[in-house]
Amino acid sequence: MSRPDSKGKKYPPLVDGFGRKITYLRLSVTDRCNLRCFYCMPQADFNWMPHDNILRFEEIIKLVRVLAHQGVRKIRLTGGEPLVRRDVVRLMEDISVLDGVEELCLTTNGVALKDLADRLYGLGLRHINISLDTLKRARFHEITGRDLFEDVWAGLQRCLELGFAPLKINFVMIRGKNDDEITDFARLSIKYPVEVRFIEFMPIGKDSRWGRQCFYPSDQAKDLIETRLGRLKEKRRKAFSGPAELYSIQGGRGAVGFISPLSHRFCSECNRLRVTADGRLRLCLFSDREIVLRDILRKGLTDQELADVFRKAVTKKPARYLVNNSDVPSCDRQMSSIGG
Ligand code: SAM
Ligand code: SF4
Ligand code: SF4
Repeated sequence: MSRPDSKGKKYPPLVDGFGRKITYLRLSVTDRCNLRCFYCMPQADFNWMPHDNILRFEEIIKLVRVLAHQGVRKIRLTGGEPLVRRDVVRLMEDISVLDGVEELCLTTNGVALKDLADRLYGLGLRHINISLDTLKRARFHEITGRDLFEDVWAGLQRCLELGFAPLKINFVMIRGKNDDEITDFARLSIKYPVEVRFIEFMPIGKDSRWGRQCFYPSDQAKDLIETRLGRLKEKRRKAFSGPAELYSIQGGRGAVGFISPLSHRFCSECNRLRVTADGRLRLCLFSDREIVLRDILRKGLTDQELADVFRKAVTKKPARYLVNNSDVPSCDRQMSSIGG
């Protein structure tokens, strides 16, 4: 999947001010989306980013190439919905062959997968996270604003047939909305070789619908699953393997994972950077302190100069999320433009 870059240059690894090595980039390729999940997008006064502000493919390739030469090994495409960006499959092909890129991953709402899964598999993509918060068609419509459950389900089934692995399902737990389906989703990991990740609802975006009343903690989900489906066996966690705590269910083909940004933290192992669709480098999911890469890229910097920008930027990565006058981290920018 990799071939040497024409310049073949290597720079010192990116290490932040707390000694954390940066090896993972979450790259949002668009803020647009074919769904309108109520917890992710504002319901009113919503403006897409102007086209000119969105990073062009050649700009994306340049920044990924330089980061890969600085030791970034894993690239996740996200959005908005990454699969709505025109020619995104070509972009993925171009990223997958960059020198140093070892893992290319995709987070998608799955709507377009029934049409695109075969091509994605063909280009060598294996890691897909599909976001799905309900198995009920009417509820899907209610949560996402679109009656497209059947499309997502067909896409998920196609990915299973093709053998994508790891195939993960992201389920955001929202009390009073979908917490009655937690056990059904855990059962999916018994029937299919999938990792079902239960994600705590986070207060992201200034119009966030988050509130303590709809927050459902991971620990409660874990207890519920154990009561209904039997004891969960913890899977050994590799260092820097990401924020999910993983368990297997007896007799299950897959696993369940819990992502608990509000109740548990893995900040000391944080190895990630985020780039928004309009080319802003975010050093922490919850910090609105951003570095405007787009303008820098459009000034025509050399790779070396860009590598220096990244090297300096990561020294500003916070040790952990910033707390806004409460015990709950939050940020103003909405999730659909950060990418999760
Ligand atoms: N559109 C793609 C998708 O839905 O998978 C990729 C972008 S979406 C912003 C990435 C992930 O963020 C999804 O799994 C989504 O469920 C999750 N997400 C969005 N808003 C969230 C919130 N407030 N709290 C927790 N997870 C959230
Ligand atoms: Fe779109 Fe994903 Fe946000 Fe839902 S979670 S609105 S699919 S970007
Ligand atoms: Fe990293 Fe910030 Fe998430 Fe902590 S809260 S794991 S520092 S992105």
